Amino acid sequence: MTTEQTAASINPWQVAQQQFDLAAGRLSLDPGLRRVLREPRRELTVHFPVKMDDGSVQVFTGYRVQHNVGRGPAKGGIRYHQDVTLDEVKALAMWMTWKCAVVAIPYGGGKGGVIVDPKKLSLKELEALTRRFTTEIEVLIGPERDIPAPDVNTNAQVMAWMMDTYSMHQGYTVPGVVTGKPISLGGSEGRTEATARGAVYCIVEAADHLGIDLGRSRVAVQGFGNAGSIAASLIRDEGSSVVAVSDSTGGIHRPTGLDVDRVIAWKKEHGTVQGFPGSTDVTNADVLEVDCDILIPAALENQITARNAGSIKARVIAEAANGPTTPDADEILHERGVFLIPDILCNAGGVTVSYFEWVQDLNRDHWSETIVNAKLKEIMVRAFDETYRIARQEEVNMRMAAYLLAVQRVADATSMRGLYP
Ligand code: NAD
Repeated sequence: MTTEQTAASINPWQVAQQQFDLAAGRLSLDPGLRRVLREPRRELTVHFPVKMDDGSVQVFTGYRVQHNVGRGPAKGGIRYHQDVTLDEVKALAMWMTWKCAVVAIPYGGGKGGVIVDPKKLSLKELEALTRRFTTEIEVLIGPERDIPAPDVNTNAQVMAWMMDTYSMHQGYTVPGVVTGKPISLGGSEGRTEATARGAVYCIVEAADHLGIDLGRSRVAVQGFGNAGSIAASLIRDEGSSVVAVSDSTGGIHRPTGLDVDRVIAWKKEHGTVQGFPGSTDVTNADVLEVDCDILIPAALENQITARNAGSIKARVIAEAANGPTTPDADEILHERGVFLIPDILCNAGGVTVSYFEWVQDLNRDHWSETIVNAKLKEIMVRAFDETYRIARQEEVNMRMAAYLLAVQRVADATSMRGLYP
């Protein structure tokens, strides 16, 4: 990858395979096993019609990819975005395999997406698109086979429609087919906050190891949706000051700190964080480079590249987003002594509480938020500590350490099962 490449031109699938190759090489993985784990197990492309409000019929394209199902059912979110590609979904599915292995939950990796800008659809069109897409990918999904969840531009309502569609076809209610559902339909307490909460547990651990006082830290957050806005609130609760945030329309900066609750309310009212009173409008790129101690990318892939890695001021980067940093940028950041908490560890809180939700659904049980958060904390802290220990022992960065842990776990499971037939 060269410095001339722009974020949009970097192929996430090539990044994911490159990250895997680096870990597989270091683990001296058996060449056959390496060939198996380097590719997705299944890729489904669907083109499906939706009747629009104006009476026209539009055809949309969607994907569901299962990278690996060796350790359990495929697990991973559904993304609605105009820039979704099959290669992006393949990368996200592979990252899910490693993520589930890092936190040692019994799932493989999957991901789905539809090429659509959902902001341009009415609620009725969004529901119709969701129900038809669910039907199209029903050949793969199921509570024992492949369990979708929310991702960019999908939420509890979308999950409710998916669960209802699947259940209608089965003839009975199947809550365990998706996670991230509303509480009233078998959703888990704490699921909405789980990705951000898990990321903040990691930041607290990192700060502890690095001797950083969170009470005196300044934080910048890129992306102000589920992961980003809740991470901003939770890190504020740790005493840090949130100095910059952004969404797809741009960013805002206030060196003395933003009132996070008021920014959330402002975005709800105006549809953008920009124009927030007392702050300065900045670009999305600026938010990554503002003077701060901790940077939380919580938007999309390939935001930190060889172009801007040298300009980042933060001492800690906590990847709430999937794939925000390219391998070239990783090297630059590592050389500069930036402590990066990699996506497959940092944002694993989401899938961990999804796993709790699925366990509760299968057992017809409901846990309190206190229990959910305590179990989440135990898993995140253990995964962080295991990764940190490997990083120290092997003298590698945290991403390589997390990959060594995850790939070894998946490789062990795969070789114990043996090759069929
Ligand atoms: P979301 O749709 O709730 O929010 C996405 C946010 O990113 C929005 O505020 C959007 O405006 C902003 N955004 C989009 N393009 C941007 C750009 N170019 N620059 C700055 N901001 C931009 O989605 P989410 O669920 O919060 O997901 C965000 C990231 O977190 C994704 O990488 C996703 O895969 C990852 N993630 C989410 C979960 C989860 O449980 N929701 C779990 C693990 C990882």
